[in-house]
Amino acid sequence: MIGVIFGPPGSGKGTQAALVQRSFGMDHLSTGEILRAEVAHGSPVGHEAARIMAAGDLVPDDLITHIVERRLGRAHSPAGVLLDGFPRTVEQAKALDAMLAKEGRKVGFVIAIDVPENILVQRLIKRAAEEGRADDNRKAIAERMHEYRTLTEAVLEYYRGRGVRVIEIAGVGEVEAVFERIQKELSGAGGDE
Ligand code: AMP
Repeated sequence: MIGVIFGPPGSGKGTQAALVQRSFGMDHLSTGEILRAEVAHGSPVGHEAARIMAAGDLVPDDLITHIVERRLGRAHSPAGVLLDGFPRTVEQAKALDAMLAKEGRKVGFVIAIDVPENILVQRLIKRAAEEGRADDNRKAIAERMHEYRTLTEAVLEYYRGRGVRVIEIAGVGEVEAVFERIQKELSGAGGDE
């Protein structure tokens, strides 16, 4: 089973993905975390990505798609893989479908976390103070919201159009309450793979 967790910056998708990983045993593949590790290690990919990420822009589709293809090849959990932060463009979604199709696999579900924009910005500013992420400043936050609205939101329509199960989750409230909503949906899901 391949699942995608999807939501705007600050929606809590990384936090919820980690909880899904713990409860359901799926491998959690976060492209943001992978890129931040590359930046921290000073690898060639990290050098290419650092400035793009700090500005709140998206790294090139082919770069991130190659990383995901390599990581998917190493993911062996029988429960499957939960993709967090990928795909972020329709091009990436098509590339993912193509790489999965080679193995007779496909995306089984998409969890879409919805949070009003004013709450997102408040959360990101708070995270900036707590974690000091390079892209949690007002300018980069505005750019990430813009990228989300103009490029990433269309990915949801892409999946809906292809008949993939899109689970909409209200992302406001306590972390545990949001996770309970996800858990309820996934437990009853069964899946189609
Ligand atoms: P995230 O941790 O998911 O918020 O990602 C942090 C940053 O990493 C994003 O703002 C982008 O600069 C970059 N990034 C992560 N995933 C992708 C992706 N699928 N496509 C392009 N850029 C990405």
